[in-house]
Order: sequence, then structure tokens, then C-alpha cells
Amino acid sequence: DLYRPERQNSAGSDLSDPLTVGRLMADVAGAMAHERLAVPLIDGKELEGAMRLVIDPSDSRRLVGRVFEAGEAAAERALSVVAAAAPGWDRTDVAERAAMLERAAELYQAHTAELLALCIREAGKTIPDALAEVRESVDFLRYYAARAKADFASEGLDLPGPTGEINRLRLRGRGVFVCISPWNFPLAIFTGQVAAALAAGNAVIAKPAPQTPLIAALAVRLLHEAGIGGDVLALLPGGGDLGARLVSDARIAGVAFTGSNETAWAIQKRLADRHGPIVPLIAETGGLNAMIVDSSALAEQVTRDALVSAFSCAGQRCSALRLLFLQDDIADRVLTMLAGAMRELAVGDPALPSSDIGPVIDQEALSRLERHALRMAREGRLLSETRLPGDLADGFFFAPRLVEISDPRRLDGEVFGPILHVVRYPASGLADVLSWLSTCGYGLTLGIHSRIEATVRFIVDRARVGNVYVNRGMIGAVVGSQPFGGEGLSGTGPKSGGPRTLYRFATERAVSVNI
Ligand code: GLU
Repeated sequence: DLYRPERQNSAGSDLSDPLTVGRLMADVAGAMAHERLAVPLIDGKELEGAMRLVIDPSDSRRLVGRVFEAGEAAAERALSVVAAAAPGWDRTDVAERAAMLERAAELYQAHTAELLALCIREAGKTIPDALAEVRESVDFLRYYAARAKADFASEGLDLPGPTGEINRLRLRGRGVFVCISPWNFPLAIFTGQVAAALAAGNAVIAKPAPQTPLIAALAVRLLHEAGIGGDVLALLPGGGDLGARLVSDARIAGVAFTGSNETAWAIQKRLADRHGPIVPLIAETGGLNAMIVDSSALAEQVTRDALVSAFSCAGQRCSALRLLFLQDDIADRVLTMLAGAMRELAVGDPALPSSDIGPVIDQEALSRLERHALRMAREGRLLSETRLPGDLADGFFFAPRLVEISDPRRLDGEVFGPILHVVRYPASGLADVLSWLSTCGYGLTLGIHSRIEATVRFIVDRARVGNVYVNRGMIGAVVGSQPFGGEGLSGTGPKSGGPRTLYRFATERAVSVNI
């Protein structure tokens, strides 16, 4: 089967086994011991940049490493070197390209402890979230390698034609892809973008989020070690100005971006203004994701799924549950259980296995959440707030909150953190819920909890969202099984980790030969 290439996702770790956890913690502690570095890296050479410290979001007194951010000279050099290398990479046999990505997957696995340490210390991920992130990255590498081998064979797809004519459709790389990745999945989304672009035959300039350059630098080191040329993949750490510079350049052939809507619009505008080739923008942006729970749902299951979907990764997932719609008849039961479960959540140092929730990424994120919580305290009703231990004052910790609001329109955009909003609806109110869904503009994930098949079908048929999850949690899309990505304000597609992802990173060429 074309869509089931021979490949398996990576295996998990048994975190209920104290020996496994003990070994993991010792490895991670060892890997955390030394300071890290991220430097502009082009053609194997390190370039100069403006130095900045990278601090640990769970304790801002702790230095994780240093980053040297790329300026104009590095940007210019990367563009010329990578543009020159792109055609050769595209002509490299796809099996060879794929083998390098597969080799990189092995190297990622061999360096799991270091990667985990950086997910935890640089991005504030808990141990289970960090493990899931490393696994997803490995899966992206192998999956895109397999997809490339299936779809990018050099002869291309054989198409019909009259006798004496051969028609073939080939997929080819577009040229230089700029990959601009977010801090919330600093390894998985970074790797996913870069691997997809490379697998499809593009050369890449990778610009990771300014908050998380260190893990990206390690990932690039491993990709180079796997055989991908330093001129085929360049790393440019930096902020928004650097991103703007890169996407304004006529030498680039495509942009893969995950982040805010504002930045996606800004990139779109720059691409339009630059009078170069017309190139695709692949954008994955925000979500205002809902879960709809009717009275036939299993309250215990709803509680568990809502808890995980709203609060894992401290709510810093695009896919996270933000708005829980509860039908009146079941609302009190679910809310009592949710409030009870939230009392048991442990907010704390993400390096400890006892912590369920780590910090948010930085002071700016924390202040934004605090402002939103203040507004919600005035306009809504605070139902529950997890206790925040007193010794976390030096980190960017925000206690998970459950807030009831009367009208979903009170939310005017994505709230990126562990605040779950609840809206009750009457048995006759499903149409209103769906009408809000269709007018809010976002379309990333949707959860449905109902045991009435007709209701599920009714909602699934009408919801314009990229990923629908029925009677389960609504985060953690699995590579190859749940291609991830939204519609409308949530993104352009293609979905990541899907059978057609690579097509959008590629161009199609038809070759017709008269024989
Ligand atoms: N793919 C992740 C998930 O399914 C979310 C990625 C994101 O936050 O952009 O939870």
C-alpha cells in the first residue's frame, strides 16, 4: 500500500518503571552539565553573530547556553551558498537523500539524552513531553524518507498517452526553502520542516525560534553528521528581523513557517513585495480549539481527555483544548471532576518526574497569560486554579486555571497557555456551538465526546477543522496516522506527517517523449 511504507514509529519508554526513569534521569542530568552553543553555521563554517544568553524558563537564574545571532553578512552568505548547492542536492538520488535522513534518525536516537535535556532546560518540557518530542522528530525523519522514496523516484509517475509517446510526471525540489520554526516544539517541528524540505529535494536555511536555538543547533549538527552537506542545510539563529530579511530575498523558493498569525501575514506580505519568483508559503498558525461534550459522554473520560488536552506542555500547543463546550446535563459532573483533578496536578521543575506541568516559555508569555487571567476573573467565573508552589518564583510558571464564561465570543484570539475556558450549552444549543465554530475563523483541532453516532457524524460533517478527535484526547497527532494541520486562520496546509506533505515542498515537471 502506497500510504503504508515499510516503517514503524519509534517505541516509547515505560515511565511506570522506576529503573527506566532512574536511568533516564541520570543520562539527562549528565547531558545538562555543560553549557550549549548555537552559532550561524554555513558550509560547515561558524560565522560571527551578536551574542545572547539563553536561560532556563523554569529558573531564569540558570544559563542553558549562548547563541550568536546571525546578522546581514551571515544571511547573505547563507543565501548564496545554499542557493548554489540546491540544484546538486535535487539531483542527488532520492534513495541517497532518504538514507541520510534515516541515518539522522539513528543519530537522534543515539543522542536522546542530550535532546531531552535541551527540551527540558531550554523549552521547559516535562520528561514525558520531552520524550514524545524526541520520538516525533525521529518519526518525521523516517516518515519523510519513506515518502520521498515512494514518490520521488527519478523516472516519475508513468501517465497515459498515445502510442509512441511516453509521459512522465516528476516531483522535484523547488530550490532554497526557508524553515522558520517555533519554540513550542523546538525539535519536532524544527526537524519536521527541515526533513520535509530536504526529502523533497530542497536545500534549507533553518531559522529556529529565538527562544530555542540550542536544540536546533544540536539537531543540525546531527543532520550534518548523517551526511547532509553544510551547504545544503545552513543554520541561522536569530529573531524576526532575520526572518524578514530571508523571506524578502528573491533567491528563496519557499517558506515553511509555524508560529503566530501576525508573523504569517507579515511573511505573506514580504513574499508578495519582493518581485521574485512566486513561491509557496506553508504556514501552520494558531487555533481556538474546542471540545464539544454532549450528555451521552462518559464524564470520567472527558475529564481525563480535557485535562491532558488543555494542560500538557503547559497548554503551549497549537492543538491544545481552549474551549470546553459542556451540555447542561453533564456540566456539573464534569466540572467537579475536572476541578478535583486539577488539585492533583503538580506544577514544578520539568526535570523532575513528579512534575506534571512545567513553565511557560518566557516572561512575555507569562505576562500575557496573567493579563488574560485578570480579564477572565472579571468577565467570567474562576472554577479552579492549581496550586503554585512557593519556590518557583524564579521561573515563568503559571498555574492552570478553569474559567467559566457565558459566551465563547468573549475570546477574541488564541490564548497560548494552561487556561481552559468552559461554556455550557442547552440540549437545543448544538447549532449555536457549531455556528460559533464556523465563524471564529480558526480551524485546527476539534474534540467531540458523544456516544450518539448521529451527533458525531453531524458535527464531523460540518466542522471546518483540520483534525477532529472523537471520544479521545485532541493533542499529540501521530506521524503517518494523524496528519496534522488546520484551515482558515489556522494554516495553509499541507498537513505535517501526512502522505501528501512532501508534494507542497516540491514542484511537478511533466516530461513527454516521442519515441
Ligand atoms: N502536532 C502537535 C499536536 O498534535 C501540535 C503542534 C503545534 O503545537 O504546533 O499536539
